[in-house]
Amino acid sequence: MLQVQGVFKSYATPQGPLAVLQGVDLHLEHGSSLALMGESGSGKSTLLHLMAGLDQVDRGTISIAGQRLDQMNEARLANWRRTDIGLVFQQFNLISSLKIDDNLAFQARLAGRFDPLWQAQLIERLGLGDLLKRYPEQLSGGQQQRVAVGRALASKPGLLLADEPTGNLDEATSDEVLQLLLDLLRDSATSLLMVTHSTRVAERLAHKVVLQNGRVADAGER
Ligand code: ADP
Ligand code: MG
Repeated sequence: MLQVQGVFKSYATPQGPLAVLQGVDLHLEHGSSLALMGESGSGKSTLLHLMAGLDQVDRGTISIAGQRLDQMNEARLANWRRTDIGLVFQQFNLISSLKIDDNLAFQARLAGRFDPLWQAQLIERLGLGDLLKRYPEQLSGGQQQRVAVGRALASKPGLLLADEPTGNLDEATSDEVLQLLLDLLRDSATSLLMVTHSTRVAERLAHKVVLQNGRVADAGER
């Protein structure tokens, strides 16, 4: 599903280039899940942005579902991003001017993949039925993150990329959102790559890797 090979990425800074990723290799099987860990500043978000096609590698390759991201042009990449991957971030990033039902459907509609039946299932499974006519600011953090999860899965992407999705939630709410997410992934055959600081969260996923000094330091199986 996901293959990352020899990926390098530096940023230009006033002090000169900052080498963040220095030969990252990892892979993720179809339908599986991987926790991406590492200290703050180790390059987790950088790698996630590259995998989402939001930024370009300096060297190396990233393939998702057999497609090399560097071989897609901008238009194709933009379209692919809408249809083939879901993104969930620590900040819920909901559209404040849209009610919850429209937030949920927004990306799937853009992608031309709005499926009313799946939408109804997501609403039920995520327990959002009573909240559909509210605005994001009228929801708790846990509720907003459930909407963000639903929005990301609405187009049934092959891969969900999540950057500390439960990082802003208390432990109980984090557990609940994670469980819902894992259940829904199983049913939609979506693979998951999740950045997390939490060993507890990482232990719920099938595999774990740690980024250190620009590379994958340690691969764990369970
Ligand atoms: P993590 O998500 O693991 O905390 P990041 O990928 O966000 O780490 O950042 C890795 C390093 O790259 C940090 O030192 C950060 O300051 C730096 N960095 C991230 N984005 C940029 C950017 N756009 N320009 C310059 N430096 C950046
Ligand atoms: Mg980060």
